[in-house]
Amino acid sequence: MKMPERVSPADLDARIARVVRDDIRALAGYRVADASGMIKLDAMENPFGLPGDVRSGLGTLAAAQALNRYPDPEARALKRVLRKTMQVPPGMELLLGNGSDEIIQLLALACARPGASMLGVEPSFAMFPLIARICGLAFVSVPLAGGFDLDTEAVLAAMARHRPALVLLAYPNNPTGNLFDHAALERIVAQAPGLVVIDEAYHPFARASFMSRLHDFPNLALMRTLSKLGLAGLRLGMLIGRPEWLAHIDKLRLPYNVNVLSQCAAAHVLEHGAILEQQAAAIRAERARLAGALAKLPGVHPYPSEANFILFRVARASALYDALKRRGILIKSLAGAHPALADCLRVSVGAPAENDAFLAALTASLPEIATSHA
Ligand code: PMP
Repeated sequence: MKMPERVSPADLDARIARVVRDDIRALAGYRVADASGMIKLDAMENPFGLPGDVRSGLGTLAAAQALNRYPDPEARALKRVLRKTMQVPPGMELLLGNGSDEIIQLLALACARPGASMLGVEPSFAMFPLIARICGLAFVSVPLAGGFDLDTEAVLAAMARHRPALVLLAYPNNPTGNLFDHAALERIVAQAPGLVVIDEAYHPFARASFMSRLHDFPNLALMRTLSKLGLAGLRLGMLIGRPEWLAHIDKLRLPYNVNVLSQCAAAHVLEHGAILEQQAAAIRAERARLAGALAKLPGVHPYPSEANFILFRVARASALYDALKRRGILIKSLAGAHPALADCLRVSVGAPAENDAFLAALTASLPEIATSHA
């Protein structure tokens, strides 16, 4: 049998360079650390599983689905449940995505006219600028003020100068955990020349929202996700806003972007809605305990959080991250993410035993890194 001809790496590189966009080849991409065997406190997941009866109900429901058929492209049954649980105001429409990451991509694609831009603040969710650039939309970045507050005047000035098609702000913000000032956001929405999308991914832990304000502005839409609430594996995000805006964004959505199993599983779990709300309350209580414990550790400076994670500053953060990893705890290193995040680490709020393990590992690691010369 004739073996395929060996390809020289240089030849392959040249072929790829002729095909794949230069900016895509230059990208580092979004990396996710391997969490096998670790206590996973890196990705803002809900640490609690579903109760046995909900799980067995899910099994029966999944078995009854016709997997040979395409899903309902409009996910009507799931949307009805979502409308109720999220209290979507009458007259507002919902658009579902394969995670809110997909919604960001649809928004960016819709706005990517030549010369158009998306405005965001930094530090914030790393996917905002990454998706904008991939979609050919310039990203206008406005630095946050001290304490990671919104620099409202700087945002207004940047909007006046760049006239962004889209302003995208996370409320609460990731990775800083704070809620921006509500009145400041209203001013931004009122003065924005284009669409403003407020990303309420962490809403279950903040319970502040612009949902009831959607009718007050012609250019406001919201994003939500089921990921942080406890269904990250299903990949379900949503855009909520006026049908006139959403009708156009919807044309970019691939027809069957939310699969049959995600649709029925999400509807089933949300119909037992109280359970996820109870878990969110437990996470909020653990957040307070974790923040208190962090603040007591010498040299550890946690930032106030309205989300299900805590950002903290500590000397030699990278060494600490490695030391925690050696002890089986995976958190998020923000090394190199943004100059304002120098020496910052982000820990997701876990179950009580996980938080205890994290605090024990942290307490043991701090003296170790203080004396090492790594
Ligand atoms: N928005 C923000 C602010 C986030 O932090 C995240 C996840 N880290 C997302 C959106 C994406 O969530 P999803 O799982 O719905 O894609």
